[in-house]
Amino acid sequence: MVDDQICSTWEWSRAPRSGSELEELRQLLLLCQGVVLEGGTDTVGWELDGVGGFSVSSLKDRLKDVRFAVPNYTITWNNWVPGKVGILAWRAELNRVPVLSILYKRNIIDGSLDCPACGESEETTEHFFVSCGLAQEVWQAITLWCKVPYIFAFSVRDILDLYKFTKFPRRKAKYFHAVCLVSIWCLWKARNDMVFNGLGGHGGKSGGRYKGA
Ligand SMILES: [Zn+2]
Repeated sequence: MVDDQICSTWEWSRAPRSGSELEELRQLLLLCQGVVLEGGTDTVGWELDGVGGFSVSSLKDRLKDVRFAVPNYTITWNNWVPGKVGILAWRAELNRVPVLSILYKRNIIDGSLDCPACGESEETTEHFFVSCGLAQEVWQAITLWCKVPYIFAFSVRDILDLYKFTKFPRRKAKYFHAVCLVSIWCLWKARNDMVFNGLGGHGGKSGGRYKGA
């Protein structure tokens, strides 16, 4: 403090290094600009209410004004499949299923990132559920079974939207959608059997990739 103004002379135990740390420091300095500290007792106030006291109505009024971001894709839920099946598909579309490439980025595993099913490519969400030989066999089998045109898919989203491009009546399209959701579930279950139980796959049990496993 110098003449009631905040002075930015720092005594760092470690100077900020990364770009994000420097940006946080810049934001902090911006917030402190113009702040004048006065003597007296500190108080806590609620800014959303004119009198400084908390009220639920003031919070409610503020929330009404917030414009929540609209996601650019909305998954269609299907009540003919268990909730956990729909949730897995939703997470896969968001790239939130713990495939090896994602676990590696989070520093949870080390070693090979090869797809447990084919061993020919890094296991990413798109690879495992869409382009892997195992997934391709499943989707082609569904093509024949459900008598739909050859499936061209490049992402999990393409798989989830397939039912929209069939010429099925509404009820049958919902049935086909359920088949796709359950297939995603079964692929993931088979994959976990390969990784953790050594069932099938190209290289037997591979749970040893997991740190601490
Ligand atoms: Zn594969």
